[in-house]
Amino acid sequence: MTTTARQSDFSPLAAAEMILRQGLKQAAGAVQLASSFSVEDIVLIDLIQRWQLPIGIFAIDTGRLNEETYEVAEAVVSHYKVKIDWYFPQAQAVEALEREKGLFSFRESLENRHECCRIRKTEPLVRALAPLSGWVTGLRREQGVTRSQVEAIEIDVAHGNIIKINPLIDWSEAEVWDYAKRERLPLNRLHQQGYPSIGCAPCTRAIQAGEDVRAGRWWWENPEHKECGLHRRKS
Ligand code: SF4
Repeated sequence: MTTTARQSDFSPLAAAEMILRQGLKQAAGAVQLASSFSVEDIVLIDLIQRWQLPIGIFAIDTGRLNEETYEVAEAVVSHYKVKIDWYFPQAQAVEALEREKGLFSFRESLENRHECCRIRKTEPLVRALAPLSGWVTGLRREQGVTRSQVEAIEIDVAHGNIIKINPLIDWSEAEVWDYAKRERLPLNRLHQQGYPSIGCAPCTRAIQAGEDVRAGRWWWENPEHKECGLHRRKS
């Protein structure tokens, strides 16, 4: 951990603002929010605009996103008058993958799933982060076993020691939704259909009441594997 910011000492909003400002200071350079257009990301976009912070937005179009995600992305652009820096996978890598293994290889093994995530997500992420000194994410500790050790501000060793800022780290799901509803944020329609987590269409599904919020991601895998490599903690 590289900060003294702890949500438990502040209101959720005050903690998020302090983490963002402290993270910006530590990054001392260009910082962008990585958006998958989940409710957490829209809350962060709203807060960044509210506080007029110098933080841009980038997103990765894996080529397998839901239509609803593209729609809310455009709604965000229109609502906040912001620009989104989109990144797409390398065309040749996607072509080779699909020609060799078909369109659903990620269902066949963990290795194949990691290969698809590497081509469609983590390689574009590396390009997105290359010019940045820091990035902001909507990670929350409550989101499951793979995220319980996340800190408010981290050194991202896996991406060249840039600063990784997680302002909603200690927000509960209820706090995220209270804010989103109170501020009438433009939201992904998939949330209303039981998707707490937003990802690629073939690898994300709605969950049942009481299930872990990440249960709908790669539901055929064990909980400890439910990451795509975007939030690797070490190289
Ligand atoms: S989430 Fe699924 S479709 Fe998307 S990159 Fe990973 S394996 Fe491929």
